Amino acid sequence: MAQETQNHTLTVSGWAAHDSSGEIKPYTFKRRENGVNDVTIKVLYCGICHTDLHYAKNDWGITMYPVVPGHEITGVVIKVGCNAGKFQIGDRVGVGCLAASCLECEFCANSQENYCDQIQFTYNGIFWDGSVTYGGYSNVIVADYRYVVRIPENLPMDSVAPLLCAGITVFSPLKDNGMLGSPGKKMGVVGLGGLGHVAVKFGKAFGHHVTVISTSPSKETEAKGRLGADDFIVSTNSQQMQAGKRTLDFILDSVSAKHSLGPILELLKVDGTLVTVGAPDQPLELPSFPLIFGKRSVKGSMTGGIRETQEMMDPCGEHNITCDVEVITPDAINEAMDRLAGNAVRYRFVIDIAGRISNL
Ligand code: NAP
Ligand code: ZN
Repeated sequence: MAQETQNHTLTVSGWAAHDSSGEIKPYTFKRRENGVNDVTIKVLYCGICHTDLHYAKNDWGITMYPVVPGHEITGVVIKVGCNAGKFQIGDRVGVGCLAASCLECEFCANSQENYCDQIQFTYNGIFWDGSVTYGGYSNVIVADYRYVVRIPENLPMDSVAPLLCAGITVFSPLKDNGMLGSPGKKMGVVGLGGLGHVAVKFGKAFGHHVTVISTSPSKETEAKGRLGADDFIVSTNSQQMQAGKRTLDFILDSVSAKHSLGPILELLKVDGTLVTVGAPDQPLELPSFPLIFGKRSVKGSMTGGIRETQEMMDPCGEHNITCDVEVITPDAINEAMDRLAGNAVRYRFVIDIAGRISNL
């Protein structure tokens, strides 16, 4: 049992990594009591994002152990603070990457809390009361209502969960780069994993021609079939890469490991834009020539704001867009993490927290 912060009296069962082996074990800890701005949520499902793996293994050197990962959380409100009246007990809600921000800067004022320089994340962050934040691999979470979104009634709580990170992380740069309301663009998605497969679905829903650029030839049939991609380029196949040169308007790169952006940039038309959302622990290679010869741009993007998370959720409800998930019990988290590390998931693991049948 850790964390002796004042007002942290709510005992919660969860799962944590305790060292850089990344092994996840049951962990009992304390959360804050529901405050005036909080809702308490019974967690139903939590997706396993590759970021969880980066943190569990301390890939980025910033992990505060024990770390309770999880920022793709769906659940039901069980307690409501007096300022949080927009939510009611029983509401179906989601929590993503954000736990707190200053609420005063230009970014917070514009619901771009994700770019507030005092941003605190759902786990491995430091909340205002000095406590370390713990994520959704746990049966209950207390969240400031300003970072909670509603889940459309018609969407299943398991396959919707990854929209809270994977979904918004790809929706935000699509919106930011003029890919909403302008159908018919040539869009590339690099890395067909948790983020990438949602990007393909959004790209098709927004009316674009979508090309997947992948290291895994075995993903082609599904990409073009179930996910609806128009083209598939195997990035290690030089003929396919050559044939794809200067064909794309926009590329979203979601690769979790170090790679060179050079050959990928060659796929962009002149003046095209590549947005990277992947967060490898090593710097990406960025050779000058493909940049300068094509007047191309490389940008980054970090999750999304709360308003745009709701903005993403609502059309997902209307068009029934959810994620392709494999639901597991908590006792299978370590196996799932190993498979995620080995690129063997189609396309997101989601932990069934509430219905768990074992204690690891
Ligand atoms: P994921 O499910 O593991 O997908 C990553 C994909 O990258 C894999 O499916 C694979 O696709 C490709 N890949 C893996 N290793 C590769 C390698 N060595 N070379 C080339 N391609 C490789 O991971 P995810 O959950 O989508 O997350 C992807 C990355 O985004 C992670 O680094 C994560 O931390 C980061 N992330 C960032 C944000 C943000 O706010 N910017 C939010 C969430 C996640 P193919 O088999 O198709 O090649
Ligand atoms: Zn994530």
